[in-house]
Amino acid sequence: MRVGSTETAEPVVSVRKPYKLVSRDFHPDDSVIQVGNVAFGGNKVIVMSGPCAVESREQVMQSAEFMQRIGVPVLRGGAYKPRTSPYSFQGMRVEGLKILAEARERYGVLIVTEAVDHESLANVAEWADIVQIGARNMQNFELLKAAGQTGKPVLLKRGLAATIDEWLMAAEYIAANGNMNIILCERGIRTYETKTRNTLDISAVPVVKQLSHLPVVIDPSHAAGQWQWVAPLARAGVAAGVDGLIIEAHPNPAEALSDGPQSLNFRHLEELMGEVGLIAQALGRDL
Ligand code: PEP
Ligand code: MN
Repeated sequence: MRVGSTETAEPVVSVRKPYKLVSRDFHPDDSVIQVGNVAFGGNKVIVMSGPCAVESREQVMQSAEFMQRIGVPVLRGGAYKPRTSPYSFQGMRVEGLKILAEARERYGVLIVTEAVDHESLANVAEWADIVQIGARNMQNFELLKAAGQTGKPVLLKRGLAATIDEWLMAAEYIAANGNMNIILCERGIRTYETKTRNTLDISAVPVVKQLSHLPVVIDPSHAAGQWQWVAPLARAGVAAGVDGLIIEAHPNPAEALSDGPQSLNFRHLEELMGEVGLIAQALGRDL
């Protein structure tokens, strides 16, 4: 430090760090997680999009065809759905995974889909490219250990009421089990506010990027709960420095079996891609 400088050698955020492998102390440079031809944590902002749930072969093929057309490299779609109500649509399970894998073959998109337990994890690891661990399972430590052991890239969502340290400790479980291919996803946390489904913790983006070398993405869809608020939050995320976005989009949101109100139609998704592309460019990145 220069004499007379106002700079300080101390980190801006000074916290006790119970995690090691996922900490920047362990790996000072940004980690780049390569999944097929897509790199998370590099110069590109990676967009993942598709329906909340796999509902039919036709719905998935329509979605994959559109993603390929507008340059979205990763298709999302839940085959196993952790629904709040046991009476809600629970997902197409293995049949859904096979449809996603067929879409990958036909349209060249990568697949991210959720595993909810050990059985689904084995199936997701077999059929998909990225294993999603959902907010409700962020502290399912046995599932995190098993996800580590698969070696497959993991998209780890932040729990509904998890602190940043708890979230990073969940990532540490995956890393400690031999898998450093982890992408962190802020998807909104529960606060006193009820107008939005959750509160997108945008501050988590710079904080986690300082504390950890892992790529950070946001899911503005589950944060907002309403499609009209998804694009503004996505724009804010890209401005804040995210490495990617995961956005729910459906060929016909009004007919969606899951999360229709927060799903963009394809026209709105294409508009969002244009907007976030401009913001990424202004920051020296691209989509
Ligand atoms: C989802 O991505 O559809 C989902 C269930 O997300 P979360 O775990 O963040 O609620
Ligand atoms: Mn959803």
